[in-house]
Amino acid sequence: MADIIDGKAFAAKIRAEVKEDSDKLISQKQVDPCLAVVLVGENPASKVYVGQKSKMAKECNIKTKDYKLDESTDQKTLLKLIEDLNNDSTVHGILVQLPLPKQIDERKVIDTIVVEKDVDGFHAINAGRLSIGGDMLKRAFIPCTPLGSLLLLKDQVGDLRGKNAVVVGRSNIVGKPMSQLLIEESCTVTIVHSKTKDIESVCAQADVVVVAVGRPEMVDAKWLKEGAVVIDVGINRIPVTKEDGSEGSKIVGDVDFASASEKASKITPVPGGVGPMTIACLLRNTVTSAYRHAGLNDPRSH
Ligand code: NDP
Repeated sequence: MADIIDGKAFAAKIRAEVKEDSDKLISQKQVDPCLAVVLVGENPASKVYVGQKSKMAKECNIKTKDYKLDESTDQKTLLKLIEDLNNDSTVHGILVQLPLPKQIDERKVIDTIVVEKDVDGFHAINAGRLSIGGDMLKRAFIPCTPLGSLLLLKDQVGDLRGKNAVVVGRSNIVGKPMSQLLIEESCTVTIVHSKTKDIESVCAQADVVVVAVGRPEMVDAKWLKEGAVVIDVGINRIPVTKEDGSEGSKIVGDVDFASASEKASKITPVPGGVGPMTIACLLRNTVTSAYRHAGLNDPRSH
């Protein structure tokens, strides 16, 4: 039976470090780290995420500036807001919650955020720095979900050098940056996706499996080598019938936890695994940005 990786507890530890770093900057340099949080529209999940991010930022003594824009907001208005935030020297991080309404070009918006405030790490230049790696990585902001997954992995496994890692999913937000981080850790990395042939047997070679597909409970024990370490990034809401017969829903990952935990050595639960790490890493990136803007070295290395 696998050990359950407690992402909630580890994220609380990271947030405590973030608060310590934030307090140090405030007392020694009189700089208040500040995150601008931009939400466009009424997407219910986005509203929840934005609320959690702002609340946890405040708990870490990071100020927030919250902007809630109408669903019908046009691209020009949003780009103007971003330009204003780029020019606002009191703001160190700009978060635009995705997805954006369809009239807005997401890539254009992301690439309008000045690289030095792109704490989500989605800007083309930050993606490029991550891809080049080495010293370039030290100047990049790394996307929060893959960074959180890597920190969990390093905490659990230690040295990742030479491990066979398979990343399931190739999105720009999770799969691709995750694979680049694992390459940087000297893993042997394979990315699999919806067109991969014989995907189960590719995964079954892996010492480390990171799954980010958005398909509820897709990966089960058959996909895994005995003793593999499994990081489940997925967040899927599925319908359930409650004990009293009424209809409800619950959150599950992309991994069939019950089956996979019979074969894995360590596994993240959903919820309580990668999810809390994503927000902790956003706050960490914001404080890192505030340090950089104050001309200081990064408070922590990854
Ligand atoms: P995307 O939809 O952008 O990407 C999904 C990837 O999975 C694609 O590369 C797709 O392949 C691949 N895929 C889809 N179906 C299959 C299949 N049957 N077999 C193999 N590969 C498949 O999703 P994201 O990366 O944005 O998110 C993935 C999951 O992670 C979601 O559940 C999301 O909610 C969750 N998530 C969680 C976060 C957290 O904080 N914990 C943060 C971000 C996301 P192809 O490219 O070929 O289409």
